[in-house]
Amino acid sequence: MTMASTDMFQAILARKEAELALVLRNRDDIAIEKSADQMDEVQDASERDLAIRNVDRESILLRQVKAALRRIRDGSFGTCIDCEWAISPKRLAAVPWASRCIHCQEAADRDRQERGNESETLGNAA
Ligand SMILES: [Zn+2]
Repeated sequence: MTMASTDMFQAILARKEAELALVLRNRDDIAIEKSADQMDEVQDASERDLAIRNVDRESILLRQVKAALRRIRDGSFGTCIDCEWAISPKRLAAVPWASRCIHCQEAADRDRQERGNESETLGNAA
């Protein structure tokens, strides 16, 4: 990982972090407004669940972005947290917050699916 591309990823990640923080803040406002007016309706309960799930997804992504920014600071960015090999530049270009190489990510996703927990598959999104 050259200095220049680390700088580039830092800029991308910092922008993503700001964007997600803003989305999450707006979502919070919406959720509060809704639950105050329409607490009792079943349909709203499922809508609220959906909103909460979306916030979960975005919170997870925000955590991953923050962790990637930390890895840039401590110099481990671009290195797989499991096998410690370099993450391919192609993968980082698609998923700058990726913490694992594609092989370890696939293994981790498989692991999670087997445990029936589908959250945090965002490493493969985008
Ligand atoms: Zn790996």
